[in-house]
Amino acid sequence: MSKKDEKNVSMQLDRREFIKLSAAVGAATIVGYDPVFGTIREAFAEDAPKAEKWFMSVCPYCGTGCGVNVGVAKGKVVAVKGMEDHPINKGELCILGKNLVGMLYTKDRLVSPMKKDGSGFKKIGWDEATATVAGRFKEIMEKNGPDSVAMYISASEYIEEYYVYNKFVKGCLGTNNLESSARLCWASGVVGIVKAFGADSPPCAFEDLELADLFFVAGYNPSSSKPIFFKRLMKAKKDSKATMIVVDPRKTDTARKADVHLQIKPGTDVVLYNAITNVLINEGLVNEEEARKLTNNYDKLKEHVQKSTPKYASEVTGLTEKEITDTARTIGKAKAALFMWGQGLNQSRIGTRKVTSLLNIPFITGNIGRPGAGPFAVTGQSTAMSLREVGGLPHLLPGFRAVADEKFRADVAAIWSVDAKKIAPKPGKTIVDIMKGIEAGEIKALWIIHSNPAATFPDTKWVRETLKKTEFLVVQDCYHPTETSNYAHILLPGAQWSEKGGTMTNGERGLNLIEQAVAPPGEARPDLEIVMDVARKMGFEKEFPYKKTEEIFEEFKTCTKGRPNDINGLTYERLRKDKGIQWPVPTAEHMGTKRRFMDRKFPGAEGKLNLHANDHLEPAEVIDGEFPLFLITGLVNEQFHSRTRTGKIDVLNKAVSEPFIEIHPDDAKKNKVKESDMVKVSSRRGSATVRATITDSIIKGAVFIPYHFGYLAGEDKAVNNLTNRSFDEAAKQPEYKACAVKIKKA
Ligand code: SF4
Repeated sequence: MSKKDEKNVSMQLDRREFIKLSAAVGAATIVGYDPVFGTIREAFAEDAPKAEKWFMSVCPYCGTGCGVNVGVAKGKVVAVKGMEDHPINKGELCILGKNLVGMLYTKDRLVSPMKKDGSGFKKIGWDEATATVAGRFKEIMEKNGPDSVAMYISASEYIEEYYVYNKFVKGCLGTNNLESSARLCWASGVVGIVKAFGADSPPCAFEDLELADLFFVAGYNPSSSKPIFFKRLMKAKKDSKATMIVVDPRKTDTARKADVHLQIKPGTDVVLYNAITNVLINEGLVNEEEARKLTNNYDKLKEHVQKSTPKYASEVTGLTEKEITDTARTIGKAKAALFMWGQGLNQSRIGTRKVTSLLNIPFITGNIGRPGAGPFAVTGQSTAMSLREVGGLPHLLPGFRAVADEKFRADVAAIWSVDAKKIAPKPGKTIVDIMKGIEAGEIKALWIIHSNPAATFPDTKWVRETLKKTEFLVVQDCYHPTETSNYAHILLPGAQWSEKGGTMTNGERGLNLIEQAVAPPGEARPDLEIVMDVARKMGFEKEFPYKKTEEIFEEFKTCTKGRPNDINGLTYERLRKDKGIQWPVPTAEHMGTKRRFMDRKFPGAEGKLNLHANDHLEPAEVIDGEFPLFLITGLVNEQFHSRTRTGKIDVLNKAVSEPFIEIHPDDAKKNKVKESDMVKVSSRRGSATVRATITDSIIKGAVFIPYHFGYLAGEDKAVNNLTNRSFDEAAKQPEYKACAVKIKKA
């Protein structure tokens, strides 16, 4: 290896050092890098075009929802800056937010509709493209019924887009097969919340960070996934001298900042939370009278956790009895505790059990319905909250209404001006069942919008084979090729963030306006215009009379009247000044709702919270002599999802240019692997070859690979070659956090 190559390798491995040294792309020159928050500060190069006009917007990546000003010159976005007067980020942005411009002007932008032609694609006009989609969907539905088609959308789209897709699929096509990529990251979390509260009910606000004296952070690494949120968390911790306990098999940046890091064996969370509950109850740290008043099933839970002693939990989780007991005592003595969790809990075949077991703890300790206390989960995708409130999932209608409820169907049908019988009572298929449906020949047509399942779904080989079997596959995206677009019969060029307008709700129920700053490139169009065009060609002209997104927002508002997310007090005009106002906002005079359930009346049975007596269950695939290591997949802060946006931004792409594997020094020694070696990782489904990082950040017996790389990075680079098709029993979320692998120096 030459000196230059050696330097490149070390740069690739130490992404933070690399960022410190590298020059930024485009208009920005990096002048500093904060290794804790992943935040760069940039200075605009002298020759960068000066913005002629600024537009208000929101960062489209994570659920923090940072306000962004978008600078435009000569019809192009030339700059972004954090919005100084935005309540969430007060002018700051993380490395992803600062580099938003880079996602817009890439060589692989899809700029015209295309049709499969042999093994490639040929350019076609919009009229032919939309007529083909309308004609094929109609034909397939007439022959096989409405449930033979499905739409799969992302969790990064706008309220108005979700509203149009929902109305089209459920109100016009007559199927509930509208599914979202939120299934892959937050389904178990949301199902857990619904089971525990009796409804989808995020109670807390970011302001609670400043009021808590304890942060219990489980399977969650906001330092990498939500850096601006994490920065606020760290400031709050310092200012109020709050304690932070982190549960994670990895020493993440978040864990390194904790007062206590519980480096738990992968997958054993239910045992830990039951044991903490055991200690809380048995040491008299629970006000039982209050707990019985506040919750259902308190005595059942009390009895259930008696077997979960700290001794037993110590054997299963690998933690010491003292660590478990001390943690319970710290929680029991806290004045106001916030409980946060993320994909470490959700992405498991018992993800819902893990979440409900965790939620037992704030509920029995009265950490709910008080400032600074409660469960607080900020989603990884920017509009996962909007998606749920608009009903962009197979079991929902707008305003958190269940499709199974006849009255709800009638309410929504009246607003949509469609026959109530048109909305099917049976919930539609999740993406897991859509894939199985394609395999079984039941789903014939699939329309994918801004999602990349061929990279993000577990067991890549199976997904690719399945997509090939789709009779008619439409992919609407900003980019081509993606891992998924190659399988399409028709490609529709959609618009990217800032090339379309609308509204978004962030992880604390806060609404923001995104102004369209520029036109999409080439023939690309705002996504809801494409869907409405197809709908009209299928004969649904009167259902889609809208000329502006504001008209769609106004119609959606009527669906929220009297519902938990009532936003009848909002208009586009109001959102221009009341940035991040939190629902419900039922009237024009209402100032928004910082926290919910302050009256301690909950949506569940008898107005109480539900406790859950859960048992632990091993992951679907456990380690053995042949595959002796648990694979955990996760994210890094310089990339987002399958890199369709971030993988083309030089500064981000160079920072993490290839997948890597974290191996504990003992496991590395056992397998004769050294730092920077290329390592072949194999599971029962396939293999991936990645570069080794030897670190005690990962617990012995497990390895970690970031999930961002799909097969376009190289057939043997896709981490989902390894993962398995095991799904949460209730939420159908994939178990990305535990499958069995072996490693060998390549
Ligand atoms: Fe965007 Fe999230 Fe970073 Fe804020 S924290 S700039 S919303 S990625």
